[in-house]
Order: sequence, then structure tokens, then C-alpha cells
Amino acid sequence: MIFIVKSSDNLTTYKVDFNFGEVVQVQCDCPAGIYGKHCKHKMGLLQGDTSLLADPNQSGLLTECLSRLDGSDIFKAIQELNACEHQLSEMKKICEKKKKSLEKILQGK
Ligand SMILES: [Zn+2]
Repeated sequence: MIFIVKSSDNLTTYKVDFNFGEVVQVQCDCPAGIYGKHCKHKMGLLQGDTSLLADPNQSGLLTECLSRLDGSDIFKAIQELNACEHQLSEMKKICEKKKKSLEKILQGK
């Protein structure tokens, strides 16, 4: 199933293809996607972001695709990545607090 997604400049569109063959593949034809790299179009659709869709009528089809991925390796990998990103953002907050604390210490406060 092919979805047409808007790029961030809102001018270009890309195609994200959910291929439900023997092995499920999700590919995008954006500059990163053509090399099989992580891209926001694949990630956005896989996370259910319907605002990326150039044709809002495809949102039902996206929901259907995502339900077919439930419990798959793709789904698990996304959950793991989301967990890492959450931890990373929490660690960034802690680092900022530590920097502030060091700033005070260095000023003798
Ligand atoms: Zn892409």
C-alpha cells in the first residue's frame, strides 16, 4: 500500500510503501529513504501521524496497515526506539540540571 506524504517544505511529496509480502517492508523514496535510512516519513506514518498524509482520505488505510503490524518486529523495534528516545530526553533534562548546579558551584554559590 502506497501513501503519499508531504515533505517538511510542504511542496514536495514522497511515497511511503508498506509492502506486506512474506516479510513486511516499509520504504520511502525521499533522499534518506532511498538508501533504506531512517526518515521522518516512514517513522511518522509508523507512529500514526496522519498529518503527514497528502491525501487525508488515506488515514483509514494507514490505521488498517498499522493494525496489521501489531506485535510485529517492526512494531517492537519502534517501541524500543521510543523508549530510548524518552530516556534520552529525560537524561538531557538531568544534564541541564547538573550544568546549572556546576555553574553555581563554580561561582562559589
Ligand atoms: Zn522519507
